[in-house]
Amino acid sequence: LLGPDGRPSTTIFTEMTLLARQFDAVNLGQGFPDEDGPRQVLDAAKAAIDSGVNQYSPGRGEPDLRAAISEHQRRFYGLDADPDTEVLVTAGATEALAATVLALVRPGDEVVTFEPFYDAYAADIGLAGGRHVTVALRAPDFQPDLDELDHAVTDRTRLIIVNDPNNPTGAVFTRETLQRIVEVAERHNAWIVTDEVYEHLVFDDARHIPIATLPGACERTITISSAGKTFSATGWKIGWAVGPAEVITAILTVKQYLTFVNGAPFQPAIAAGLRLGDDFYTGIASVLRRKRDILVDGLQQAGFRTFSPKGAYYVLADTSSVGYEDATELSRELPRKVGVAGVPASAFAKPEHAEAYRSLLRFAFCKREDVLREAASRLTRL
Ligand code: PMP
Ligand code: GLN
Repeated sequence: LLGPDGRPSTTIFTEMTLLARQFDAVNLGQGFPDEDGPRQVLDAAKAAIDSGVNQYSPGRGEPDLRAAISEHQRRFYGLDADPDTEVLVTAGATEALAATVLALVRPGDEVVTFEPFYDAYAADIGLAGGRHVTVALRAPDFQPDLDELDHAVTDRTRLIIVNDPNNPTGAVFTRETLQRIVEVAERHNAWIVTDEVYEHLVFDDARHIPIATLPGACERTITISSAGKTFSATGWKIGWAVGPAEVITAILTVKQYLTFVNGAPFQPAIAAGLRLGDDFYTGIASVLRRKRDILVDGLQQAGFRTFSPKGAYYVLADTSSVGYEDATELSRELPRKVGVAGVPASAFAKPEHAEAYRSLLRFAFCKREDVLREAASRLTRL
């Protein structure tokens, strides 16, 4: 976990947020919304604090939140999960991922991820002593090559980590891709860990298909999600894992020594959020689609080639189309130069594969429309 200069490494998100603050730049680097989520959810957290929900929760999480997570899986996806044995509340998706990888991966086991990958996966695999094997997602559609996937997964593979909808590419995996993942996992007896934190943020004709709904998948899949994105509450760190009872118990065994429990008064509030009506869920996707269109149009007017995302809240822009081959270099300059921060896609790749993403810069569009317009207009000055 030391950087190339031998000093402790910080995440790219921390680095870019600090630069954005230093130069008073519009921060489209770290992905967090600049507006609060639904009023009912905020009020429910206040009410929980006022009514004394301020001590340790039960180890698996507040029963009412586990019930709401189970209801949510049934309501949206037709999936059954026993709230007492098959659902675990965690400190964000981040802890669910770490505890899952630490519970399942033995030293030397291989773990397959799709590259570019969310940075925590590589760190978690490293902590567990696993070997990280990647399958590339390539522009313009960022679906994996299925033959490459076949080659990457072997009997040494302990788990395959899927992130769909995808950060940073905005891809939403097709049914064909997901089916192939299940097939290779079955063939090599691997677990599937699916990070679906952007499950409700999909646009246009794309549909989110939870991999656990595919035939043969449920018994080998751990589904991870979080309240951070759906309810614009990234600071609350309420996440969860859903999967077969024995594996949830194993993840709990790790979690109890990471945080023990977390976020007691936020848990009933997120339970209320998960039970909001369909209007809320369709509303957040359509608000975000407008934001995507504003930023994508603005980036194109500033001369960037873009890859229009079908899900999540990031867009990849090709900086070579505005004369910069190295997006990492540009990302360090951009806050000072024009007052906008982004994150280079190469930060989501293994160092030996970073070249493939060299000219791609990720911008987050989970920001107010005026903020996105301001960022786009500043970028025209590049
Ligand atoms: N997975 C992905 C793909 C993410 O983008 C993020 C960042 N929010 C997380 C996990 C972490 O989620 P949380 O904040 O709930 O820990
Ligand atoms: N998930 C967010 C992103 O990708 C924030 C991650 C973080 O700050 N660790 O930008």
